Amino acid sequence: MNRLNTEIKYLKGVGEFKAKLLAKLDIYTIADFLDFFPRTYISRKVNIPISQFNVGENVSFTGKITSINKNNTYSGKRQLSIKIEDTSGYILCRWFRFGKWLLDELKIGEAIWIGGTISEFAGHLEIIHPQIEFLEKEKPDKFWDKRAILPVYNLTASLTTRGMRKLIVNLFRDFHQDIQETLPDFILKNYNFEPRNIALQRIHFPTDLKKVEEAKKRFVFEELLYQQLMLARVYYSNKVINKGNKFNLNMTLTSQLKENLPFKMTNAQKKVLNEIIQDMTSSKQMRRLIQGDVGSGKTIVVLFAMLIALENGFQSAFVAPTEILAEQHLKSISSFLDNQSSVVVELIKGGNYKGKKDIKDRITSGEINIIIGTHALFQKDIFFKNLGLVVIDEQHRFGVKQRSVLAKNNNSPGLLYLSATPIPRSLSMTVFGDLDISIIDELPPTRKVVTTIWKNNSKKNIIYEKIRAELNKGRQAYVVCPLVEESEKLDLLDATTIFFKLKDEIYPEFNCALLHGKMKPSEKDQVMTDFKNHKYDLLISTTVIEVGIDVPNATIMMIEHAERFGLSQLHQLRGRVGRGSEASFCYLISYSPISKEGRERLSMMVRTNDGFLIAEKDLELRGPGDFFGTNQSGMPGYRHANILRDQVFLKQAREVAIAIIKEDFDLKLEKHKALHNNYFPRYYEREKLFKF
Ligand code: ADP
Ligand code: MG
Repeated sequence: MNRLNTEIKYLKGVGEFKAKLLAKLDIYTIADFLDFFPRTYISRKVNIPISQFNVGENVSFTGKITSINKNNTYSGKRQLSIKIEDTSGYILCRWFRFGKWLLDELKIGEAIWIGGTISEFAGHLEIIHPQIEFLEKEKPDKFWDKRAILPVYNLTASLTTRGMRKLIVNLFRDFHQDIQETLPDFILKNYNFEPRNIALQRIHFPTDLKKVEEAKKRFVFEELLYQQLMLARVYYSNKVINKGNKFNLNMTLTSQLKENLPFKMTNAQKKVLNEIIQDMTSSKQMRRLIQGDVGSGKTIVVLFAMLIALENGFQSAFVAPTEILAEQHLKSISSFLDNQSSVVVELIKGGNYKGKKDIKDRITSGEINIIIGTHALFQKDIFFKNLGLVVIDEQHRFGVKQRSVLAKNNNSPGLLYLSATPIPRSLSMTVFGDLDISIIDELPPTRKVVTTIWKNNSKKNIIYEKIRAELNKGRQAYVVCPLVEESEKLDLLDATTIFFKLKDEIYPEFNCALLHGKMKPSEKDQVMTDFKNHKYDLLISTTVIEVGIDVPNATIMMIEHAERFGLSQLHQLRGRVGRGSEASFCYLISYSPISKEGRERLSMMVRTNDGFLIAEKDLELRGPGDFFGTNQSGMPGYRHANILRDQVFLKQAREVAIAIIKEDFDLKLEKHKALHNNYFPRYYEREKLFKF
């Protein structure tokens, strides 16, 4: 048994209670603790006489308390100041926040250990809020007190920095010999990385901050490499094991569709369709992600793919995240297929309703060629005659497990995932390393750029009039708000309040509707459908409209509290306008105070309509963990790597991983032994999430 898997409670000095606190830091085993790196470091001068202290230095020293004063500062703040002396001089220590315990503990004449940064006030050297220890009551830390660089760890309640440092000493004393190398020799040599045990010591017991930075690199690389090994294994095993259906290009249905198209395909659409055709006409299973900004025209591309399947006698399933989107797909696909009555397209909804059984039966008999639906399509009681292609729209709204269900229960159908969230390449490579990726990086020429304007809320009346002008022309408008109902905690405008204000005071002459996430799905669908049919002029909504509704007549949008929204979210919202032939506008209304990050988001929105640029910036501002929401992508968070900072490593790790897996799929070669020993216990289970 690997001793590093020992539960953390068995580490000397931990026990049941502290183990629970450490668990909050994701430390469950010895190995986790080794991997728990300091948040930062303090470097300081040690054992220097007080008379030689300089402003700005971090110091650590011992002295005697010679006076204790509790009083108020000139500005009326409560303060506690003590004087510490050694044989060379004195220094003051001051606290502005302090508990009674501190007053009780401090005694004139006692020896004390002090750590902190030197500052100057009124001609005296002093340390504000120092770290202290009472040498006569507590034992000094023989190990750390003498060291010039100290690690600082993230803490949770009642764990202390000094306590953590003591544990780290115990950790290395008792488990140092158990640390095993996890990278093969050729990688260590190639990248000039230090062995794992040495690198870990440099990080936890630093003597040189430059070397700490160097040492950290190997852990970044290691983390990325193992992740890429996993994705590469999934990718190749799917390619090899899942023999897909090899389709022929008969060009019967597809050429008809091409002739009937009301527009010319963009070059980007053609390029991506070609990539799909390559997959479909090979004997391997297609597993491809299509990225394309809102309005880039993904639907027509997948329709071609579905017709190719049909030309070969296969059914297709098109899964959308909401019913209204599924209905929209049905509508647009039916209109594209206007003259092709031989193609049978149907919609299946969730829940029980009249006619559902009939639809299911016709799926099973093979009469339905293209079935469009929501999660309902994932139900176990749906049996296809011969499913050849699965298309999943807005794939990030489905879990990895969920989206694999359809594929598992059928005979390796081709898989197409669609994503309207433009994902930076650096990220898609890691998150979707098990898929091939196609990008539609061009919008149809008919698509209008949305003019985006950022205004302070004091200018709102002007914007109300802009909206009125559009409504008078017979156009429709969106007003987006961050909240549904008045919230006591946050001083934000909510959709309900805004709805009544706009409906009763500002636009009494127009029809206004309210839409929010607390409504029943059927109510939401009704409101959206009515808006689409222009029963309403103005839709006041929370972010639920984000989920891709297509209303070409809507030409203006106002987003309240725009400073509250994420960048990609703002971009998605904005994509609801500019879908018709008219010029369109998006007004971002902000309320002070706005954070620096908030400002950056809003000015980025004004500057560009390019979804990929926006996604890069969003990633930069938020960090990759947050980008997809918690674990939606099915990928574990990173401990050491930062996808933005470490893009170069990421690319290299991917290349190395692919080369290794191609040569030695099960890591059986002697030179891959270190990888083998670490990969199978720690990563193998996770592969299953991606396999089908
Ligand atoms: P998305 O990628 O957001 O799913 P859609 O497939 O819904 O985009 O397409 C958006 C709109 O653009 C639809 O009305 C569609 O018919 C139209 N469209 C698609 N491709 C083109 C094109 N090449 N030229 C003009 N209009 C197009
Ligand atoms: Mg779409």
